[in-house]
Amino acid sequence: MGDGPILARRVLLVEDEESLVITLRDRLLSEGYEVEAVGDGDTATERGTRGQFDLVILDVALPRKSGFDVCRDLRQRGVQTPIIMLTARGQVIDRILGLKLGADDYLTKPFEMAELLARIEALLRRARTLSASASDAYAFGAVQVDFRSAVVRRDGQPVDVSGLEFKLLRYFVERRGALLSRDELLEKVWGYDAMPVTRTVDVHVASLRQKLERNPSKPEFFITVHGLGYKFIG
Ligand code: CA
Repeated sequence: MGDGPILARRVLLVEDEESLVITLRDRLLSEGYEVEAVGDGDTATERGTRGQFDLVILDVALPRKSGFDVCRDLRQRGVQTPIIMLTARGQVIDRILGLKLGADDYLTKPFEMAELLARIEALLRRARTLSASASDAYAFGAVQVDFRSAVVRRDGQPVDVSGLEFKLLRYFVERRGALLSRDELLEKVWGYDAMPVTRTVDVHVASLRQKLERNPSKPEFFITVHGLGYKFIG
């Protein structure tokens, strides 16, 4: 077992037509995907919600619950997994409805296997780009943080922050909403416990407020939780 790119990408295949399931599964397996196949809408919703899939291939016409309902339910439950819908030939209305309900792409039956594989690759590539950019940048108020280039901007203008301030800001953003004690911040951001002067934390938080808050004396983002520590609300 490895991680990163070595890990096989997992596909949930939702299709009730047995011969098509066999064809698709064999081909996907030979392309290096892991495949779980289910044949009805209820099971698809359940597996799509609980299983950790990288992509869902979703037929529209299914027993018990249509692919449209599965798609809508997954999105309503907060599932972000890319969904490619398989629609019947010429059903333009199906394609529009599918995309409206949160599907990312659609393919009309019958389709070429190569076409499906190309669409899958494109969707997975897009999903990777989106998740990478989400963790590489963060914005709150008028502030934009680019973690990769370590640049902080306020109203589009670069803000001069020290290395420690940047580390502290990053820790705040990663733990946004959580109560962070001064001891935790010292340990995680400063990384040593020699001379644990908790006042150091206060000085750096005050400096971040000065640089990034609209009104540093009435902070909106770097909040003091009296007697306990700090909380970042972004
Ligand atoms: Ca079907």
